Amino acid sequence: MRKVLLFVLPLFILIPIAMLMGCSSAPTIELPTPVSIIGQATPIVVHVTNPRGIRSVSATVEQNGASYPVWKMEQPSKTKEAVWSFTAGVKTTPQLKDGKAKLIVEATSNDLLHKSARVERDVTIVTQPPSISVDSEQHYLYIGMADAATFSVTGAYTAAGVRVGDQSYRAWPMPSGKPGLFSLFAFAWNMPQGTIPLVFASNGAGNDVTSPITVIFPKKEQPHYTVHDLQVSDAFMQKVVGELDPNGSGDMVTRFVRINNEMRKSNNKTLSDLRFKTADHFLFTQPFQRQSHSQAEATFADLRNYIYQGKKIDQQVHLGYDLAVTQHVGVEASNDGRIVWAAPLGIYGNCVVVDHGYGLQTIYGHMSHIDVHEGDMVKRGQIMGQSGMTGMAGGDHIHFAMQLDGVQIDPKEWWDPHWIQDHITRRLDVGMAPAPEVAAAPAKRHAHRAGSKRRR
Ligand SMILES: [Zn+2]
Repeated sequence: MRKVLLFVLPLFILIPIAMLMGCSSAPTIELPTPVSIIGQATPIVVHVTNPRGIRSVSATVEQNGASYPVWKMEQPSKTKEAVWSFTAGVKTTPQLKDGKAKLIVEATSNDLLHKSARVERDVTIVTQPPSISVDSEQHYLYIGMADAATFSVTGAYTAAGVRVGDQSYRAWPMPSGKPGLFSLFAFAWNMPQGTIPLVFASNGAGNDVTSPITVIFPKKEQPHYTVHDLQVSDAFMQKVVGELDPNGSGDMVTRFVRINNEMRKSNNKTLSDLRFKTADHFLFTQPFQRQSHSQAEATFADLRNYIYQGKKIDQQVHLGYDLAVTQHVGVEASNDGRIVWAAPLGIYGNCVVVDHGYGLQTIYGHMSHIDVHEGDMVKRGQIMGQSGMTGMAGGDHIHFAMQLDGVQIDPKEWWDPHWIQDHITRRLDVGMAPAPEVAAAPAKRHAHRAGSKRRR
């Protein structure tokens, strides 16, 4: 009998422990935002999950054999999942020195066995913010215009570039391989006058610095963009609504205005997001060229009032050039580059976007036919398809636009070899071949262009 007890008793103890062990599990710790640098007060986010609840979470920084607690949560909770954010850095732990360190996060489960987990990250302590030195160029800017700024950043940084208002333009290493950085930046058509572009550098550790760029705005008023009243006929409205919103609800005017606003906004967002599909070098070696023999029927930032039956139903800003030649003319690539979009895009109809590197892209809209594919390399002047009137177009033309880091800009400087030489190639120290002879626009245009005076 005693023998049996001796054998059975341990089971009474061991089985529940084994059961407990089976039910208990260590928490899972994640740091959703990567941490590589800790500065003055670096935000850190910790995500902990455990089906048994979480008993405690703590963070420490280890450096040169010393361990500094930086944050602690100790309110046992049955919650299976929680996110905490806190800051770590020199502000609260002044003992930290510039150099390597380890960030350690530990968490314990809220059950009897208190199983724990631990994650470690190698970090660099950076006590000083980066510093910026900006070129001494004078930058002439007006609405819709782009320019290049060169600068250098000393000290550790994770992001740098030029900020104009709420828009940010990336920094790139100098193409010549010389030390330093540059950004192509723009003063967007809707940027409040007097906004000063700033070079910024951030080490992602709460140490951000900015330095203003010397900018000269025209003394006079900014150029006053032309205002056009655009008569919307029933035929045009039906064409646009039938093509872009065939199954929509509401009356024609409501649907037209919705396309002109919501679809325009969404299409522009799609265009803007193409900035991430850009080469880290210039793909072109010559100035941009304008569609041969074309007549501009609308220019950048024209303000359009949409008039229907004598009433203004909408107003939009036109962010490109409407270039007309003849019907179904071959659409020429403005410069060498890579196709990053070749598909229908709402109000832009059949649309092609060419990337030229460093966030600089050209856009071609309303095409009747596209002959290129995403990923294709195109040469300056190469025919990419035929012009047409797909999307929100009342007549055959090419909607030509340009964007820089997702912000639509005025293409006209980029068509000017002297401007490119002065503002881009000289500053960035890149070789650029002079513009070859470009066919001049004919004095008299062909009369039978598109058979319509309406272009959008
Ligand atoms: Zn247009």
